[in-house]
Amino acid sequence: MKTELVRSYLYTGEMSMSKLYIVATPIGNLKDMTERAIETLRSVDWIAAEDTRRSKKLLVHFDLKARMRSYHDHNERQVSEQLVAKMLAGESVALVSDAGTPLISDPGYRIVRLAREAGIDVIPIPGASAMLAALSVSGLATDRFVFMGFLKKKARKKQLQSLLRESGTVIIYEAPHRVSELMDDMLAVLGADRTVVVARELTKRYEQVISGSVAEQRANLKDGTIPEKGEFVILLEGMTVDYDEHRADEVLQFLLKEVAVSKAVMLAAKVTGVSKNELYQRALAIKDVS
Ligand code: SAM
Repeated sequence: MKTELVRSYLYTGEMSMSKLYIVATPIGNLKDMTERAIETLRSVDWIAAEDTRRSKKLLVHFDLKARMRSYHDHNERQVSEQLVAKMLAGESVALVSDAGTPLISDPGYRIVRLAREAGIDVIPIPGASAMLAALSVSGLATDRFVFMGFLKKKARKKQLQSLLRESGTVIIYEAPHRVSELMDDMLAVLGADRTVVVARELTKRYEQVISGSVAEQRANLKDGTIPEKGEFVILLEGMTVDYDEHRADEVLQFLLKEVAVSKAVMLAAKVTGVSKNELYQRALAIKDVS
């Protein structure tokens, strides 16, 4: 169904509209299913699921019965149109994915887009998502972060390069059989010292959240401290240079009023942890403009 057709249903007012619910489901531990998610899945006419067989197990566990439609990457366009037509005809639809929050590295973008264009209310039923669960326990900065989802195998090094100077925490999803390759590429592009947090099997029995340098994490994967099994979120500490630059300038500006350049650089290096080389260049720039 074309968007215009959807709109014409809407504007003729012949049909009463219903809602689209975007329902998060657990990422491993069924106790993370929210009451609202259960209520919603109980009340809707249709559940659109990425993998109906997987979601069926969840529904059986919570004793839920609803008609299901399969909704995945390969039929997204067509099924979105069909489900929007159903909502315009007064039926309600809930979208679930295999785990976590739909649309987060999962299908759903098209139906949300189409439903909103058709004037249908899209209601979030929030809950688990591996990226936020991992970020919340990582100990890395949370004031700014970039979610990359799965990096593309062939473009991985390039993508990592583009993140070299990213100041926020970078969150990456990775499959277990590729996590070592990802770490190899991180070593090649980012060097050995950047802090990486590996969050594995969150909310499940063998949950692991391990922090270490790229080199350490590579060794952890090689010696089996971190088994290459299960589900992984990899978090990369942001580059701190931007913040350091600002702070370093403040410290340098203060010191340059009191002492000679070489002394100011030495003291600023102690206070900020920034290399003397870098501080020397900054000190010269500050002196230039003052
Ligand atoms: N929509 C989901 C969400 O909200 O997190 C993500 C779906 S994506 C197809 C699946 C990926 O999420 C996995 O390959 C893994 O990187 C991450 N993931 C899902 N569950 C996880 C868990 N329990 N522990 C760690 N990572 C998990």
